[in-house]
Amino acid sequence: DEITIATLGSHTSLHILKGAKLEGFSTVCITMKGRDVPYKRFKVADKFIYVDNFSDIKNEEIQEKLRELNSIVVPHGSFIAYCGLDNVENNFLVPMFGNRRILRWESERSLERKLLKESGIRVPKKYESPEDIDKTVIVKFPGARGGRGYFIASSTEEFYKKAEDLKKRGILTDEDIANAHIEEYVVGTNFCIHYFYSPLKDEVELLGMDRRYESNIDGLVRIPAKDQLELNVNPSYVITGNIPVVIRESLLPQVFEIGDKLVSKAKELIPPGMIGPFCLQCLCNEDLELVVFEMSARTDGGSNTFMNGSPYSFLYNGEPLSMGQRIAREIKMALQLNMIDKVIS
Ligand code: ATP
Repeated sequence: DEITIATLGSHTSLHILKGAKLEGFSTVCITMKGRDVPYKRFKVADKFIYVDNFSDIKNEEIQEKLRELNSIVVPHGSFIAYCGLDNVENNFLVPMFGNRRILRWESERSLERKLLKESGIRVPKKYESPEDIDKTVIVKFPGARGGRGYFIASSTEEFYKKAEDLKKRGILTDEDIANAHIEEYVVGTNFCIHYFYSPLKDEVELLGMDRRYESNIDGLVRIPAKDQLELNVNPSYVITGNIPVVIRESLLPQVFEIGDKLVSKAKELIPPGMIGPFCLQCLCNEDLELVVFEMSARTDGGSNTFMNGSPYSFLYNGEPLSMGQRIAREIKMALQLNMIDKVIS
């Protein structure tokens, strides 16, 4: 029977749906009134399923519609956020591309850190308490707040002063402050590396790279230092866009090394391991070491920088390959080989 590739119209769905169409699949976009515009204008969806709210995607009737269409759902950041991780794990009974059990490992900071550390990947030093701060740190808070309220501090006093100030302004609560995640501020350049692991070929591919464009920090740094001091605004790291980037070629062995290490450890910790797209968000320090501060175990937003291919994805077959098309191609190959169970969960 014909397979439909389905996803929620948000996040990275343009290239997921377009890539599926290019590989000959029919596509369905789950959307709501007012949010369907890009998918209609770019014509990436053959069918639409309308919901009143994105969080309705977990509802039984939507699942039923998806099953009727013989769908394979490609999950992304917004899909997981709206469906809810518990539902993705236990109640969303539609075949999904990738290993859904690994999604908890990217969303819980302690599991994410465990996987990265046990893989032998460099991560920023973590501080157990504000009292231990002995150099510049970045302070993060739980929940998907998209970098709002994050701040930089260089001493215990500065930590409490800034935390107090953000509390007064209603940005942080006492509970947030008690649960602050404090880590070494890595001074370096940002590379978010988009990989694809093919279980069929048993190979990690490098498909693209981006760096982040965050508000207000990327605007703040365009103001001369002395004016920044006068302005007295708190920085925030809210993602607003992505910029494609390539890395110095001599760093590519390290890029492949960390990707391979992660895939190999994930097989052991969360069998069958990583399947398909994943992303390592790195900072490259002055010693040219890649320090990983965040991981995604599904398409990352930065893969939108190469909907028409990246310098890296081009190298494989000399064609403009997107992450979405790479996913669809793996599904197509798995169907041909009668190995679909190797790429879905
Ligand atoms: P995401 O949406 O990617 O999960 P988030 O809100 O969890 O974002 P992070 O990605 O952890 O936030 O961090 C936001 C930004 O803060 C990063 O893009 C980077 O610019 C900066 N940053 C994070 N950790 C560090 C670090 N250890 N050293 C220096 N800068 C950092």
